[in-house]
Amino acid sequence: KNIALENTTINELKESDKKYFLHPTTSIKQHQANGPSFIFKEGKGIYLTDINGDQYIDAMSSLWNVNIGHGREEIAEAAKEQMSTLAYSSCFQGFSHEPVIRLSEKLASITPGDLNVSFFTSGGSESNDTAFKLIRHYWKLKGEAKRTKIIGVKRGYHGITVGATSATGIDQFQNMATAKAPDFVHATTRFKTNCELGDKSDPDYAGSIRGTIEKEGTETVAAIIVEPVMGAGGLFIPPAGYLQALRKLCDEYGILMIADEVICGFGRTGKMFGVDNWDVVPDVMTVAKGITSAYIQLGAVIITERLRNELAEISPNDVFFHGFTYSGHTTACAIALKNIEIIEREDLVGNAKRMEAELMKGFKYLENNHSIVTKSRAIGLLAGFELLKDREKGVPFDQAIMAAPKVVGECHKRKLIVRPVVFEGSNSIVFAPPLITNKEQVETIINKLSDAISAFERQGHL
Ligand code: PLP
Repeated sequence: KNIALENTTINELKESDKKYFLHPTTSIKQHQANGPSFIFKEGKGIYLTDINGDQYIDAMSSLWNVNIGHGREEIAEAAKEQMSTLAYSSCFQGFSHEPVIRLSEKLASITPGDLNVSFFTSGGSESNDTAFKLIRHYWKLKGEAKRTKIIGVKRGYHGITVGATSATGIDQFQNMATAKAPDFVHATTRFKTNCELGDKSDPDYAGSIRGTIEKEGTETVAAIIVEPVMGAGGLFIPPAGYLQALRKLCDEYGILMIADEVICGFGRTGKMFGVDNWDVVPDVMTVAKGITSAYIQLGAVIITERLRNELAEISPNDVFFHGFTYSGHTTACAIALKNIEIIEREDLVGNAKRMEAELMKGFKYLENNHSIVTKSRAIGLLAGFELLKDREKGVPFDQAIMAAPKVVGECHKRKLIVRPVVFEGSNSIVFAPPLITNKEQVETIINKLSDAISAFERQGHL
């Protein structure tokens, strides 16, 4: 089949998209009826331009991943150089190459504590599945084969492979197919530090992670997985002391702690990694997205030296029977190295931290000017707020009004890309602009949000 797209008109592209492309996380029916919502052609900095020539602010960094912004020639050059030299060679059976060695070394130097040993994947879901298998392998070798359960939290998002979906605490993803993988459990935690510290008088104790461990049986729990700051589930920043309490809890029961840094990693929260905000060192860290700023697919599972050494000790002759064809893809590793170099050279982590303050100023403006805006929050360039019909009385909008999607629709009309999160009656708007975003651009984002909210308010849903 020869589908020549070069001279295709916009309508032909839309028709071909409708006919031949099954979109991820999209209504199949609506897509079949309406076609794609956007077709982008070019990216530069924080902007995306579509095939009509309209320029949008990509305030989501696409999928929370284009951390260094679009259109970086330097990355294209690094890719070209690597592809021309050695595009790919395998890492199975001890084979290696310079980019994967240099990247492993670099990651060890920027991750906290002794998280010094990396295994590579092609994305976040593969990283999380790898973490689960690796940890279960570890417990099996240690003679604690009953430790198989992975505890996640409600609203946590960890990806869409079978294991990662099972760890995800968002019902729509879990309900998509008939069965999830065994031995995944969810805590209904309300993120209260006192619960994790063992305050049984707290009404939420039973659903806390500690309460869940006790219910399941300590000796059956292999690991706990959390996002340091919850992203896709609605942007939740844990209270001071929460992650430290979780670390303590894991140590108390000898359970391994996995930090899913797929969104938080590589500067997003104003620190290199999310856990750095609370000086917590997990046993296993999973990363993807920002590791290459999306210029190519790559993920990693970073484990402590202690864990790697223990694995070596207890399995002296055993092969680690786990590896993807693209584990340590040569060109992907070269791109990741250039991406991290840019993040460091341009102090994008510092910029994210500085812009947090600008965002909070902007949120104050939104809350002062729009009675429906509440619970605004930001950590680095990861931000969101909630929409309530009556914020004083805490009354949400009727589900049918679809408040957040409507506000996002108004944002799109104003050439601003942000994301709605609708969950059990709550409506949030979340966004995560590239880490190069400056003060003026933050102001533009806030002004566009304000105009979009005003347009929604004029629709008369209050
Ligand atoms: N973990 C978190 C926290 C994520 O936000 C995502 C993706 O959004 C994933 C894992 C899954 O990553 P991927 O889509 O690269 O498989």
